[in-house]
Amino acid sequence: MGALPQELKQELIGKLSSIVSESHLITGDALNQRSRHFNDARPPDALALVTPTSTEQVSEVLAACNALGQTVVTHGGVTGLVGGDHSSSNDVILSLERMNTIEGIDVKSSTMTVQAGCILEAVQKAAAEADKYFPLDLGARGSCTIGGNIATNAGGLSVLRYGMMRNQVLGLEVVLADGTVMSSLNHMLKNNAGYDLKQLFIGSEGTLGVVTRAILRLQPSCSSVQTALLAFDQFSQVTDTLDTLSSKLNGQLSAFEIIWNNFYRLSTEDELYSHSPPLDSDYPFYAVIESRGADVEQDELAFNQALENLIEAGAITDATIALSNQQARQIWEVRENVECTKQFGARFRYDISLPIASMDQYIKDLEAALLKQLPNLIFAVYGHIADGNLHLQISPQDEALTANAEQTTQLHDEVNQLVYQPLQALGGSISAEHGIGTIKKAYLHLSKTAVEVSIMKTLKQSLDPKGVLNPGKIFD
Ligand SMILES: Cc1cc2nc3c(=O)[nH]c(=O)nc-3n(C[C@H](O)[C@H](O)[C@H](O)COP(=O)(O)OP(=O)(O)OC[C@H]3O[C@@H](n4cnc5c(N)ncnc54)[C@H](O)[C@@H]3O)c2cc1C
Repeated sequence: MGALPQELKQELIGKLSSIVSESHLITGDALNQRSRHFNDARPPDALALVTPTSTEQVSEVLAACNALGQTVVTHGGVTGLVGGDHSSSNDVILSLERMNTIEGIDVKSSTMTVQAGCILEAVQKAAAEADKYFPLDLGARGSCTIGGNIATNAGGLSVLRYGMMRNQVLGLEVVLADGTVMSSLNHMLKNNAGYDLKQLFIGSEGTLGVVTRAILRLQPSCSSVQTALLAFDQFSQVTDTLDTLSSKLNGQLSAFEIIWNNFYRLSTEDELYSHSPPLDSDYPFYAVIESRGADVEQDELAFNQALENLIEAGAITDATIALSNQQARQIWEVRENVECTKQFGARFRYDISLPIASMDQYIKDLEAALLKQLPNLIFAVYGHIADGNLHLQISPQDEALTANAEQTTQLHDEVNQLVYQPLQALGGSISAEHGIGTIKKAYLHLSKTAVEVSIMKTLKQSLDPKGVLNPGKIFD
């Protein structure tokens, strides 16, 4: 969609300013002070950045934009990793940052009502203060927002036990492209009265509507948490251990994060990791595991016994169990230090899914194929194995191939082909949890059939006929 003529731009800016007040509409050079909204070190590219404080204001902003065919890119914490938040100089950025109120907690029904701009960590803390547990958890917890988590159907570290964001949402309030407010603030776990419309907006990456409020589902609090780091000589040991712990810990296993040796070394040798590695650095595979329950003594006993049995049976080669919160944090840091590859220059990041049984061979084949093209390669693999989800980080470390943006893009495309092509035959996905955004849309056909894409486009057309919401994301 093109730029508005100058006089219509001025008219729109005036209108938006009257909706949110002048101090909450940012344009021109002042955008430079809002660098977090332009994270890929791009120059600030937007017609305006508007920060409403209520659903009514969001509705008025969208109605004004839609009337002129003005495109709008919604921003939460801007931690997304697929370019879903990218804007051009023709777009209005709608940031939910001032809509960050936790409106209430219903302890008896185990629900929390929040505005969409609430930071995930604040929601987790509020749940804990009410002696409840909000189970969505991911590395960007201190910056990402509930609206962004809903728009991307975020996954993270506890999907194994609690499911993705979709499973944590009971009700939603969404503002449609033309400003219509859809209030679907259901509190009930069971509600089959017609279509479950909220599901349409969860994972729609800001292309179908702007999420303004949500009713979240809370879980019972867990007073006992066990954490351990395990090491393995073979991939089959990892999957055997996952199977055994899933059944022996009575459903309390809440995380099982696999780490390949390449990532373990990079993470623990990185200057940001300030402790000595919890285990020797020579094992081919590691796993950070966590179990959550309500009986400290019994849970600890069961956890230690299960690990002891697995070690005796030869399923685990080495292990360290956290004896304090501090030790647990050090173990988690190994897995969460995902920026340790930043020092190697250009890097391509992936969040693929594929059957667990195919993972070991897929990674071996991929590494061999990559090395043929990129002998200095940095290749790091880790992920949520129980969800069939691996994260890959690939740094070519070849200045001749990444000397400018054009070359880097070309190389990125070549690497994308190597990563994505085999997934189709394996029944995997090019995106397990981050979404499509702009950077994966050329590969959507590998994970969605033509009929599926056509239905997605029909939905987009009927909810946003002028195509004003998050243009150019997921598909063109
Ligand atoms: C260190 C790190 C670790 C991460 N780990 C994980 C992980 O384990 N699992 C995982 O799933 N993701 C992970 N991510 C990715 C990211 O944090 C998630 O995608 C998160 O849900 C994005 O939330 P956000 O508020 O930052 O959204 P943004 O980045 O602001 O936006 C993401 C998308 O959602 C849209 N959007 C945002 N808010 C709204 C709204 N209110 N209404 C409609 N659309 C909206 C945007 O337009 C954009 O398309 C990680 C990121 C980092 C940096």
